[in-house]
Amino acid sequence: MELPADPELGNARRQVRHACFSYVVPKKPSNPSLIHYSPEMVEAIGLGQSFESQGFLEIFSGTKVLPNTNPYAMCYGGHQFGHWAGQLGDGRAINLAEVEHKGKNWMLQLKGAGETPYSRTADGLAVLRSSIREYLCSEAMFHLGIPTTRALSLVLTGDRVLRDVMYDGNPAYEKGAIVCRVAPSFIRFGNFEILAAQKDVKTLKTLVDFTIRHHYSHLGTPSKGVYLRLFKEIAIRSMTMVIHWQRVGFVHGVMNTDNMSILGLTIDYGPYGWLEGYDHGWTPNTTDSTNKRYRYGAQPQIVLWNLLQLANALYPLIGEASHLQDILKEYQEEVEMAYLNMMKSKLGLTEIDLGDKILVEELEKVLQRSETDMTIFFRQLAKIKRNGGSDGLKLVEEAFYMPDEIKGELKTQWQVWFSKYMDRLQKEKKNDADRSKHMNLVNPKYVLRNYMAQLAIDAADEGDYSVLNELFDLLKRPYEEQPEQHKWYAKRPEWARHKVGCSR
Ligand code: AMP
Ligand code: MG
Ligand code: MG
Repeated sequence: MELPADPELGNARRQVRHACFSYVVPKKPSNPSLIHYSPEMVEAIGLGQSFESQGFLEIFSGTKVLPNTNPYAMCYGGHQFGHWAGQLGDGRAINLAEVEHKGKNWMLQLKGAGETPYSRTADGLAVLRSSIREYLCSEAMFHLGIPTTRALSLVLTGDRVLRDVMYDGNPAYEKGAIVCRVAPSFIRFGNFEILAAQKDVKTLKTLVDFTIRHHYSHLGTPSKGVYLRLFKEIAIRSMTMVIHWQRVGFVHGVMNTDNMSILGLTIDYGPYGWLEGYDHGWTPNTTDSTNKRYRYGAQPQIVLWNLLQLANALYPLIGEASHLQDILKEYQEEVEMAYLNMMKSKLGLTEIDLGDKILVEELEKVLQRSETDMTIFFRQLAKIKRNGGSDGLKLVEEAFYMPDEIKGELKTQWQVWFSKYMDRLQKEKKNDADRSKHMNLVNPKYVLRNYMAQLAIDAADEGDYSVLNELFDLLKRPYEEQPEQHKWYAKRPEWARHKVGCSR
């Protein structure tokens, strides 16, 4: 390996200097069992032919280390909620090995396999609840066409993990679990930031050059110009990712710079959530409920803020700020255009019309005023007929959480919007069937609603994995009708109104 490794061996916590990673050994679980694996990912990493469940379980539960491999945890820092947090690192993630198959490289990473030098005050473990959330959501995102890390397997460790103390002071133990995540790389903005903060330009250059050679080789041999092109491409990929999030109503919840992938992948599924009622101010992260820094509507601007931190980290290698600033400015301009085009696609609008920005903004206002289920609204909208014959408001009625409140001035606003939308549709060349088909390719019918993940978790806690299996399969085809699964095309039930998933 050509990157600097922490010279100290062992899993003890410490500040790590002049290194990108530390060798660690996964903790041996006491009684591991396989809950689920993704046949697709098994195939993708080239295990398809030789899949053997006992050996698989040993490796992906951390029981055995593959011969001739040296698992390691990466060193990174990060800006958390707007503030520099110093060294963070893989506190509960361990890179097992990299495999190459069919021209693609995959890093296999265990999450929840025990302590590392970066665990700080925490235990390096993961609970079943958060592991199911990551496992289901990362695969669901992939099938929605969104750049993301993938999931290979979900394992129970057989050990108990302490997360919370009950109101009566008794410890609440939970089942421990391990997800094997897979991605070409898990390098984050924070991996560069920590080295810049330590003024370790030599190691920074080693890591950036490594990233270019292994993941951005099309940019050429590392040089100042190539560092700039790298930054530009990371900016574009991050923008693409966040615009996808906006499209499907995914709210990450913890967009700290240590959770921003250098490849523009959605990474670290913690307290994420899905919009039910369309609301730019919503965040699933209960620890962020005052400032709501990572609320749905702020995500594209937060990416920009994070890119600024990445620019600062790359600056020592470039020595001149103006080009980096230009790229940030371009992001600002391009993200607005990308957002508008994405919203137009959700509305089935392909022609150019100067009024579209206003049409979108007016829709957002009225959606925001009426608690409207985002997924159902756009899916229903695809059924509208251009030449009248359908009452728009009636079509989307089932998306409203409080249908009785759509009256008076609010109802008028909706009617006005629908009449503008109908006028606008006249300028489109596609016929109803074609437009509807295209809309249904960008507006999913099924997403991993917060309560759905909760149902899978509750059953799994009792040893029943049927809901997990069902959702895993359902979410492989999120844009398809799947009439037999129509029960998941429904508004959040009332009991789940204020419940969102928890990260740890
Ligand atoms: P997150 O907010 O999940 O992105 O995590 C922020 C930092 O906390 C990362 O460095 C994680 O590795 C670390 N961390 C989170 N949970 C644990 C845990 N249970 N044990 C050790 N480190 C953790
Ligand atoms: Mg993280
Ligand atoms: Mg996390």
